[in-house]
Amino acid sequence: MALTGLDIFKQLPKTNCGDCGVPTCLAFAMKLAQGGAELSQCPHVSEEAAAALSDAAAPPMRAVTVGTGDAAFTVGEETVLFRHDKTFVHPCAIGPRIDSGTSDDEIAAAVATTKAAAFERVQQHLACGFAAVRSTADAARFAAVAADVAEKSGLPLVLMAEDPEHMSAALDAVGPSRPLIHAATEANAEAMIALASEHSCPLAVRASGLDAVAALTEKAAAAGLKELVIDSAPESAAAALRDHVFARRAALKQKFAPLGYPVITFPGDHADGDPMLETVYAAVDVAKYGSIIVLSGAEPWRMLPLLVLRQNVYTDPQRPMRAEAKVYEIGAPGPDSPFLVTTNFSLTYFIVSSEIEASKIPAYLGVVDAEGLSVLTAWAAGKFVPERIAKFVNDSAIAENVSHHDIIIPGAVAQISGELAEELEAWNVLVGPYEAADIPAFLKARAG
Ligand code: SF4
Repeated sequence: MALTGLDIFKQLPKTNCGDCGVPTCLAFAMKLAQGGAELSQCPHVSEEAAAALSDAAAPPMRAVTVGTGDAAFTVGEETVLFRHDKTFVHPCAIGPRIDSGTSDDEIAAAVATTKAAAFERVQQHLACGFAAVRSTADAARFAAVAADVAEKSGLPLVLMAEDPEHMSAALDAVGPSRPLIHAATEANAEAMIALASEHSCPLAVRASGLDAVAALTEKAAAAGLKELVIDSAPESAAAALRDHVFARRAALKQKFAPLGYPVITFPGDHADGDPMLETVYAAVDVAKYGSIIVLSGAEPWRMLPLLVLRQNVYTDPQRPMRAEAKVYEIGAPGPDSPFLVTTNFSLTYFIVSSEIEASKIPAYLGVVDAEGLSVLTAWAAGKFVPERIAKFVNDSAIAENVSHHDIIIPGAVAQISGELAEELEAWNVLVGPYEAADIPAFLKARAG
């Protein structure tokens, strides 16, 4: 049962010292009750009070970390239903499933495809987060394939088997790499819970429907496991969406702890072997509320749209994505190449650099720090103004790299050309196109 702000306040020291970063104990208690603070932020709370407040202190959705070291990923810890309310915290992980019963060549090819599905977009690296290995042969084969995939992919594993003997063999084979165990069911729960405890691994529980899932998570939590993942074995894509939304609402709005865990999804289960339909269902999971999304394959054609969608959904809407402010070389520019400037709003950078690339005319693109705002917004906010652009140009080495002194500004801010010319006396300020789409034609015309 969730505690109210007043319940929590009664347990706090009531000294209003502010060490928690909030001016009063009452304000801190209210924040804690809403999930906006952690009890550990108050260094003065007594042990008895901490024990009494454990309900309120626990996050509404547990964090679960799969893997170890740099490749590990964390999911969960979400605090809002909609990204526009605040932000989503941990991006979902997406990866392929590899069956142990397939041939060594097929497994090697699947691992190669998984590794190849990696992209750079808006200065972020997008790639598969894990490889899931499913036992479809005997225990020894499952263990050998799990170890092989772990070594060759370098990714955290999701181990899929319902037979505890198979799971035990694979866990021994992959050592302390902290794979996710999938899954504890009503039939094997004791043995799988014991394996998760023994190997300190996160555990997925799978049962038909959320009531049965909640019963299993309570059992696992009573055994001391904290890092759990839920799988309601939905019979259709629509049922999957319903269960994911219901579980997230129950965890965040009702503080229903037995469903306060990340969700693992298998969109291919409902796609009748159609990878395109599976990808569409996976896109629904990215939006609502799959945390670990297991696909039947990781071909770049399906990973790219899903990873881009994830990038968009998990971007903090209150913080514009920014490109690094510097002079970018597009193509292999030389002394005669044009020099353009724009702002560091990542979408602006992305569009302008793509259009320059499309023109096939190598160029220098100066990306000015405008606090992540687009050209017109930055100009209106005083962030993309002649003084700032001139300082950027003077601080850069662009004058040494080009033999001309032409600087091309976006057509949307043609009005600053005169003032910029005064700031940059040695440069000729040229006004480029208003629309980025017109950049190729502009550059080609200029090149003659
Ligand atoms: S640090 Fe603790 S005692 Fe101090 S104001 Fe915050 S809640 Fe109160």
